[in-house]
Amino acid sequence: MRGLMQHDELLVSRLLERAETFHPRVRVVTAGPAGAHEESYAELAGRARRVASALIARGIRPGDRVATFAWNSSRHLELYFAVPGMGAVLHTLNARLHPRQVAAIVRHAGDATVFVDPALAGEWGAVAAPLDAPVPLVSLGGEEETSAVVPGATLYEDLVASGDAGFAWPDVDENDAALLCYTSGTTGAPKGVLSSHRSIYLHALMHTMADTVALSERDVVLSVVPMFHAGGWGFPYSATLVGAAQVLPGALGADAATLAALIETQGVTVATGVPTVWINLLRELERAPRDVSSLRMIKTGGAAMPAARIREYRERHGVEVLQGWGMTETGPLASLARPAPEHDDLSEDERDRLLAGQGRPVPGIRIRVVDVSGAQVPWDAATIGEIQVRGNWVAAGYFSDPARSAEALQDGWLRTGDMATIDPLGFLRLVDRNKDLVKSGGEWISSLELEAALMAHPGVQEAAVVAAPHETWLERPLAFVVRRGGSAATKEELLSSIAPEFPSWWLPDDVVFVDEIPKTSVGKFDKRALRERLGPSSDGGDGTA
Ligand code: ADP
Repeated sequence: MRGLMQHDELLVSRLLERAETFHPRVRVVTAGPAGAHEESYAELAGRARRVASALIARGIRPGDRVATFAWNSSRHLELYFAVPGMGAVLHTLNARLHPRQVAAIVRHAGDATVFVDPALAGEWGAVAAPLDAPVPLVSLGGEEETSAVVPGATLYEDLVASGDAGFAWPDVDENDAALLCYTSGTTGAPKGVLSSHRSIYLHALMHTMADTVALSERDVVLSVVPMFHAGGWGFPYSATLVGAAQVLPGALGADAATLAALIETQGVTVATGVPTVWINLLRELERAPRDVSSLRMIKTGGAAMPAARIREYRERHGVEVLQGWGMTETGPLASLARPAPEHDDLSEDERDRLLAGQGRPVPGIRIRVVDVSGAQVPWDAATIGEIQVRGNWVAAGYFSDPARSAEALQDGWLRTGDMATIDPLGFLRLVDRNKDLVKSGGEWISSLELEAALMAHPGVQEAAVVAAPHETWLERPLAFVVRRGGSAATKEELLSSIAPEFPSWWLPDDVVFVDEIPKTSVGKFDKRALRERLGPSSDGGDGTA
């Protein structure tokens, strides 16, 4: 027998409708070099409706991909609602990738239009050059942009002005695609994760639970995590749902002094970003103290936050650091390191170790940790297996990529490539990763691409790139190289030969020349053995943009 309940589609537009109705005066603030820009949810909703109708007038149809190449701003937030709201798919492009990679992604996604942040106009020029056909552009400046900073682009404000403020959000299917976000693939090109309205809505609701982030209308949310990363980890949507004020750092990005000032002046209560951002903020607060007492929580993830830094936030600033684990494919939030009642008697050290782990799955997500035969490992905090995930905000495949979609799943469970132990209470601890990637300051670097480029040098016989631990960036690439007989190629020569192909922060911090690279039984580079040769972590350098 079927239940006798109403069905109401879970739509992205409904999140905004609620903020507009019940929190019309709550502010969304965007930081900028010339001062902050502020608009209310009422204004934001009106502008989003205008943009949605203007997109339709420009021929954008349901299912079309509409891209953004932009930093966090209220205009980007308007597009977060306008594009899915009218039935198209918002495709957020990662501004930190090499232009060649961005161009490949634009081509694969078949983007119909790209909204370009004027602060990224130069970078966009390099992306557009290799595209076969020009993509219609909109320059995402504010009212101060009177002629398009992005060559050949329409002005965003003209688009807003041409739209219909009375536009009614259409009833789309909650299972339709809303957001497309590419994530780095271990091999080959990035993979497109296609979230639905329903998955975004349910993930947003999850952020409001008392045992997760407990997001409420009393919060002021600072999203440092770029809006091009897994939908800004979903916070732009969940903050809107509850009517929390939002603070977006604009092109000023993750600069620690800017963030400290924003927290103090805006009374930020919840801030999101990768560990590197918060490690840098600790140093900034030491250098130039600020009042950050409004902050109740730093929500971090994307890489493991060190226990010592979690403790430092608590002891020096009274701030709780909550670590989440997940990936673009899992919403992204799949598990949270929040102590359970059973942990009340832990010593401080034990508790910090728990907080620095990957925690338990959030309600709505199921996990299993399996060995190579697919059997679940015992919950003994010792046996290592791969984390696999299921849930309503977990990817069931990749956009337009049947081969890698098939590889991604095992009996309907998403394979994460993260190797972990699980304890008797179900708490995860990541111990390794079976994907050949380095995560520097929260951004991926493909070791395989670096190896291929190094091995293209005539003086190189073999090259293996591994993740070396690093205090600020947490991981940095380091290359082991076997020279070809007689070659005297130097580190500088090798790095400058591959430099044009990659963003500067991808280049290995060091090249170690060796006689031989250890191999596994099947002849692959034994990266675990190489990592074991590495010394303690170092500091400094340019880990990411
Ligand atoms: P995101 O944009 O959320 O960082 P990605 O898909 O780029 O998502 O990266 C996901 C991967 O990052 C995970 O599979 C894992 O290897 C790593 N990761 C994410 N969160 C953590 C964490 N809390 N601790 C350690 N590694 C993490």
